[in-house]
Amino acid sequence: MPKIYFLDVTNRDGVQTAKLGLSKLEKTLINIYLNEMGVFQSEFGFPTTRHESRYLQANLELAEMGVLQPIRLEGWIRAVTGDVETAFRLVPGIKHLNLSISTSDQMIDGKFQGRKKRQDIINDMVAAVDAARSMGAESIGVNAEDASRTDLGFLVKFGLAAREHGADRLRYCDTLGYDNPFTIYEAVRKLAGETGMPIEIHCHGDLGMAVANSIAGARGAIDSGQDAYINTTINGMGERAGNADLLAVILAVTKSKGFAEKYELASPVDLSSAWKIARFASYAFGVPIPINQPGVGSNAFAHSSGIHADGVLKDPENYELYSYEELGRGEPEYVETGRELCTGEYSGISGFSHVMGEMEVSFADEAEAREVLELARYANVASQRPLVKDELLFIAKYPKITKNLLTLTPLV
Ligand SMILES: [Zn+2]
Repeated sequence: MPKIYFLDVTNRDGVQTAKLGLSKLEKTLINIYLNEMGVFQSEFGFPTTRHESRYLQANLELAEMGVLQPIRLEGWIRAVTGDVETAFRLVPGIKHLNLSISTSDQMIDGKFQGRKKRQDIINDMVAAVDAARSMGAESIGVNAEDASRTDLGFLVKFGLAAREHGADRLRYCDTLGYDNPFTIYEAVRKLAGETGMPIEIHCHGDLGMAVANSIAGARGAIDSGQDAYINTTINGMGERAGNADLLAVILAVTKSKGFAEKYELASPVDLSSAWKIARFASYAFGVPIPINQPGVGSNAFAHSSGIHADGVLKDPENYELYSYEELGRGEPEYVETGRELCTGEYSGISGFSHVMGEMEVSFADEAEAREVLELARYANVASQRPLVKDELLFIAKYPKITKNLLTLTPLV
């Protein structure tokens, strides 16, 4: 039986959110948390973008060291042979790629304005797949941008060409959030059936259906005998109305009525880190979690009306579909209301040693403490907010990797 995999795109589509972004250290922590959670793959960035190079290489190094294992780290580029070459030049260690190109007539006519026809799209894509394979890519996904507005016959032709050239998966992008669960189910079922390829389901929330569409699409792929790779972002961050929320999709797949009986995960997901990852992404992006967000909103387990409160006290299952403990919630939180020492880009050794000491981190000598302080200062330059405990611990544990992550060298 084919299975469902999660492929998180927070570090690619999530950071494309207008007006917001993440530092390279924040992106690294997100990869670490996704790995802890058991997410299959992280689309960890842009291999052709210069300021990503060192971050991407440093994360590949963490993978080599076993820190980012077993998660698969994959980069997103355009399906252009020149981009494939640039990706391997800037990030020589890259092993997994997704190659993206627009497939709808709307995009072909609207973007290329007569310079390209449907056949050119297929030609460009297969040339990029060939280039990626010849340069050593271990896995290749091909992304059909605006797939939901693409003629299905053409999409099948596109998928078959990708498969013939050795692509491993086809990403069905509902780029504008145009599908509904009924249309995406049918489209993906046909696409998977006629191409014989595993399908990635990439949904957006412009009509409020990203999560529902994701599981309907996954069902379509599996009903045609193919694996489904659902694309998600933490807290649903992403362009415009955002992407399918990682936790909401996991809950929908595992807890919704009857779904998990037939549509199974390839490997279990550890929901106990759901709270931590959602909180960190909220802090790092600077976007509060809505109080009514599934699982992690502050009201997700709050009850006040008489009948509900009485019911949940008698048996939580009366009014709760899953427990807060399962999501890693329930620990009381310590909030400093008096004197506070934080890290910053102008921190000194005394305050920094105090902060690290509170976390029971000690240094071999002052030179080591000063080195870690210097790295923490640079991390603060990038994030412009106090670092969280896990960031400080990461810096203290992997100073060389951190130095790489934080190094930006423009215009070379
Ligand atoms: Zn997208």
